[in-house]
Amino acid sequence: MRGTALRFGMGESKKKPTPAPKAENPPTEGPSPLGDMLSHEELESLSALQLVDLITGKLPPRHSSLMDLVYLRDRISAIEEQNDQAREAIEKLDEIVEKLRSPAFRVGTFLMPVENDKAHVCVGGTDYVCRVDPKIPLNSLQMGQRVLCNEAFAVVQGLGFDKNGPIVRIDELLSDGRLRIGQEAGFNSLVLLRSALLIKEKLKPGMEVRLDVNQRVALEVIGMGRRIERSLETVTEIPWSAIGGQAEAVQAIRDTIELPFLHRELFKRFEHTVPKGFLLHGPPGCGKTLLGKATAFNLRQQLKAQTGVDHPEFFLHVKGPEILNMWVGESERQVRDLFIQCRERAKDGALAFLFIDEAESILGTRRAGRYHSILSTLVPMFCTEMDGLEPLQNVVVILASNRADLIDPAILRPGRIDRKIKVNRPDQAGAQAIYEIYLRETLPLAEPRADLARVVTEAHFAHSPSNQFLEIVFRSGKKDFLYRGDLASGAIISAVVERAKSFAIRRSIDTGQETFLTREDLLRALQREYEENDLFPPTDVTEDWLKLTDFDPENVIKLGPVRPLKKDAQGSGVV
Ligand code: ADP
Repeated sequence: MRGTALRFGMGESKKKPTPAPKAENPPTEGPSPLGDMLSHEELESLSALQLVDLITGKLPPRHSSLMDLVYLRDRISAIEEQNDQAREAIEKLDEIVEKLRSPAFRVGTFLMPVENDKAHVCVGGTDYVCRVDPKIPLNSLQMGQRVLCNEAFAVVQGLGFDKNGPIVRIDELLSDGRLRIGQEAGFNSLVLLRSALLIKEKLKPGMEVRLDVNQRVALEVIGMGRRIERSLETVTEIPWSAIGGQAEAVQAIRDTIELPFLHRELFKRFEHTVPKGFLLHGPPGCGKTLLGKATAFNLRQQLKAQTGVDHPEFFLHVKGPEILNMWVGESERQVRDLFIQCRERAKDGALAFLFIDEAESILGTRRAGRYHSILSTLVPMFCTEMDGLEPLQNVVVILASNRADLIDPAILRPGRIDRKIKVNRPDQAGAQAIYEIYLRETLPLAEPRADLARVVTEAHFAHSPSNQFLEIVFRSGKKDFLYRGDLASGAIISAVVERAKSFAIRRSIDTGQETFLTREDLLRALQREYEENDLFPPTDVTEDWLKLTDFDPENVIKLGPVRPLKKDAQGSGVV
């Protein structure tokens, strides 16, 4: 059988038959060639199997070769099947090779749709307006997500959001929801878009957010960050008249800052050194921050009135101790960053104020101690930054401290912060002035405000036994009392008035009648304020109380409350 099969030519494994012998050269013997039945083209179009079937059909029944042809047919059929499988495998491989040889897709960040068929995409830091594959609905793409772009920069697939990317800290929220970040590790100031994920998020300056790899979109809140808690504060309307009992400090500030700003030419002609800031020192709650903000507000108004140019103020409020809670080198970076921000804003036309509260904590004498190593680099750095500031270039540095004696003298040299301005506790007249400020004419007062203010101030400053607040023992052995009036402050006075208002409101709610703020409300509020006040130390540790007074610690052995401390503090208070 095999020999017979071979006679039919096993080399013919191709689907297409070998061409039939040419018509002009027909075989002279044997059965009629297939060419008699079909044209050359028709023969050419037949498969080997079909040819075998044709030949089989031409043979007479019971022809001796029929079995051979059946065998041949089976073999050809098996070979054709193998060929089909091989072809399919090759086609698949071709497809794979084709895919592998095509160029890589680019990954971009989708920023926003453009018209209804294009997308604004950032790829590798460059912006493109890309066509979008019609199979992808444009509204299925979310701001900040990744997209695949093909060779023609058409968006062909949407991917999820980046899982990695740089982290930055928000400096400012712009009114339309965009975010401003300052100069951060290697970044210039940037304005970022919020991704779809952050649209509804309540963001705050100081928070840390992660960006997409193209650094255009904030994707995720990482946390509050461990960096310095500094806040950009809006300066409300604080005319100098809103500050009571600080006439001297106000005058000193105006002479130090307002005069040089308003009379630049005169100061230049006399080559008078112009300070770049000042130090406010005094007990807490007496208006240092208020004076700082009032300086910003009033300087802006004065400059506007004089030059016609409005320089919006930029008030950066920093608490010294927060700069210290940093890892090595970070405090310096933060301080440098504060100056950079102020200078930048000033360049943009703002009046920049850098207000550093509790300044002694970072600018203290470089004494040995816990923060010795930080202070030993921070103080010189701060001095360098101060020296780098041009006078009158719209950056004012204000330090506030209740321990001015601890501030490193290098900071207080001419050309740096060379004006020390004392902010005292208000005396009786000052306190009355502050009461009058808070007992506004517009409030429902039961008596003329001057009368109310006088009555409550007299009660506040009376040297009566019930007003004895602190007991002091001097090194000489002498004992004395400090009265409530000796520890008065603007903060306490404003709190007394607020509390009195709440009594009047309560009365109105309880009686259902129209009520007015009375002297009794004020006197009761005064009593309660000293009993429950949070502005005083909860302990009776002498050092804590000494900070509130001007006594020389050397001369005092003991200073503490006369009356029991307020309830919740008693346990921990007594040492
Ligand atoms: P400091 O910075 O000295 O600790 P602040 O300026 O923060 O004190 O004062 C706290 C609050 O007390 C102020 O916001 C203000 O309401 C009130 N206050 C303090 N001093 C005065 C003052 N001299 N006149 C009017 N209000 C004052």
